[in-house]
Amino acid sequence: MPDIRPTVGSGALVLNATYEPLCVVSVRRAAILVLSAKAVCVADGEGILHSARNSLPVPSVVRLTRFVRVPYRTHVGLSRRAIFARDNWRCVYCRGPAETIDHVFPRSRGGRHAWENVVAACAKCNHTKGDKTPAELGWRLHSLPAAPKGIAWRVLGHRAPDPRWADWLDLREAEAA
Ligand SMILES: [Zn+2]
Repeated sequence: MPDIRPTVGSGALVLNATYEPLCVVSVRRAAILVLSAKAVCVADGEGILHSARNSLPVPSVVRLTRFVRVPYRTHVGLSRRAIFARDNWRCVYCRGPAETIDHVFPRSRGGRHAWENVVAACAKCNHTKGDKTPAELGWRLHSLPAAPKGIAWRVLGHRAPDPRWADWLDLREAEAA
């Protein structure tokens, strides 16, 4: 599931007119959407934004006033951070803190760089494993790697969700995925 360490980013969640979560934008961008009446603020963040003519509460969630048709992004980008987030910053072999990315079926033997074949691993396990497969070592994976699914992943990627967004992002769905 996405990183839920208590780091609250400076982003704002954008909802479609139908309340479907779309994406996260900068607070500044969200404020511009509100000031130009392209969106309404549905949840405030911390503080007040000031501009030459206006001041408004920092938007945390905004909803577009007009429905936009958005093609579904079905693939979550494969990045080091996203892999760590999916595997909860734990080594899939020993559950220690993850420090490296390991290819379950080694790349040197044709293993793919894909969600189903990459895992977070500690440096020790990664080094010990070398170019062997878990089966050859008698190791078991704590979880089978798979591409992350769910609305929170689609909208947030590896970004830490603001707790104020929980009503709109089904975070339990992401956890179960
Ligand atoms: Zn390990």
